[in-house]
Amino acid sequence: MNDWETIIGLEVHAQLSTESKIFCGCSTRFGSEPNSNTCPVCLGLPGALPVLNHRVVELAARAALALGLHVNERSIFSRKNYFYPDLPKGYQISQYDQPFSANGTLEIMTADRDEAGHAHDWKPMTIQITRLHLEEDAGKNVHEGLPDVDRFSYIDLNRAGVPLAEIVTEPDFRTSWQAYDYVNHVRRALQWVGASDADMEKGNLRCEANVSVRLKGDPIFGTKVELKNLNSVRFMQKAIEFEVERHIKTLEAGGRLVQETRLWDDHLNETRPMRSKEEAHDYRYFPEPDLPPLVVTNKFVEDVRASLPELPGPRAKRFIESYELSFSDASQLTADRSLADYYESGVEASGGNARATANWIRSELLRELEHAGLTADKSPIPPTELGALVRLVDEGTISGKQAKDVLVEMFATGKSASAIVAERGLVQVSDTGEIDRVIDEVIAASPNQLEQYRSGKETLFGFFVGQVMKASKGKANPKVVNERLREKLK
Ligand code: ADP
Ligand code: MG
Ligand code: ZN
Repeated sequence: MNDWETIIGLEVHAQLSTESKIFCGCSTRFGSEPNSNTCPVCLGLPGALPVLNHRVVELAARAALALGLHVNERSIFSRKNYFYPDLPKGYQISQYDQPFSANGTLEIMTADRDEAGHAHDWKPMTIQITRLHLEEDAGKNVHEGLPDVDRFSYIDLNRAGVPLAEIVTEPDFRTSWQAYDYVNHVRRALQWVGASDADMEKGNLRCEANVSVRLKGDPIFGTKVELKNLNSVRFMQKAIEFEVERHIKTLEAGGRLVQETRLWDDHLNETRPMRSKEEAHDYRYFPEPDLPPLVVTNKFVEDVRASLPELPGPRAKRFIESYELSFSDASQLTADRSLADYYESGVEASGGNARATANWIRSELLRELEHAGLTADKSPIPPTELGALVRLVDEGTISGKQAKDVLVEMFATGKSASAIVAERGLVQVSDTGEIDRVIDEVIAASPNQLEQYRSGKETLFGFFVGQVMKASKGKANPKVVNERLREKLK
């Protein structure tokens, strides 16, 4: 077989988290009665005029800055003309030759995956971002009822005019996993700064993958196919793999590929054609006459920048440096902002045991959270209590093994670590008075062993320790027992 190279370029549409639409005051609420969130502007009635939502510009700037992109001082809205039933105006207001942001670079971390899907050897990779532009979403064609029974279709324009940021990359990806790592990077960045909920399942982050293959060394790209209907990052990765294999098989067999849009079917695990894209679309873009150029001052951008939280990249770096975490620990703990916040509060409450707090979160807490389908900010165990648990182990009050059970109960009941430890009687007894009393009883009950020990049979020390531990039902602190026994047996 020949040596093929995969070429991938990605287009991500992120819904910006505003309460109202981009050019009118209608609500963006999801799940409202069909067509209830509409007005003359988003219905596309003649004579209605769009007005740009200020919050959209703020969130777009947050998105751009979170991705390390430059914001253009001046950008232009354009009409993208096409006919579609869910687009009553006959055009979409978008941006064309002067977008909100253009020609950026983004550094991501990416890794190869083994057969089991585990990542190995994370490395930085630079991606060229062609553009980030603003546009309005279209409506939705809805089909309800059963075919041949009570089937009916209608158009719901609640989504028409919802603000989107479209982020387009150059064809820079060479593997499906690079594309996967990129989308996760973008998703985390947008969520982190509150620009978008970026939830692919809810459709507020949509992703299209453009895929082609060529023989290694060939300077020209092959025929590309656009993949849609990718409802998770993992589906996107699988769809790309499927498509690459299909391209190679076709070309190896001497066949030809057509430029087209294909849909991923996640039940059949395959792509199928949706429409041919043989000829380039002519959208007849022209500047939107009803909107002035969008001018963004330097001060505005700097104010937005100053209001951003510490971003995930720098935060992970700081975790590695100040808490001595590995790269993979630090990236896991910065997977979302609430988890990173949780971790740092936990470290503080633990009295500064950063390593142990990281381990307890990664090996125990995240498992419970995942089970319950919760994020860290909704954890029934607040970070201060996780820190308290780490402290109880550090101070020798309970063993690590006991602490694992305590954590599970804390998660299930919301009780504090100390309350559970007290209820279960887990507390180690370190009180010398109490331990002395037990030792005296044990000594009094074992006169023979005492005599042998005192006449030189030192191996019997272990016997006494065992008896004391047994008499205390395992609660005595072994260190204190040892000290007191040595004293008393002298
Ligand atoms: P279209 O007009 O079909 O949308 P564009 O040139 O605007 O095509 O590119 C859309 C996306 O496709 C971009 O992300 C770009 O990087 C990517 N792309 C372009 N050519 C190829 C190719 N041959 N193989 C893979 N991706 C490509
Ligand atoms: Mg496209
Ligand atoms: Zn409206």
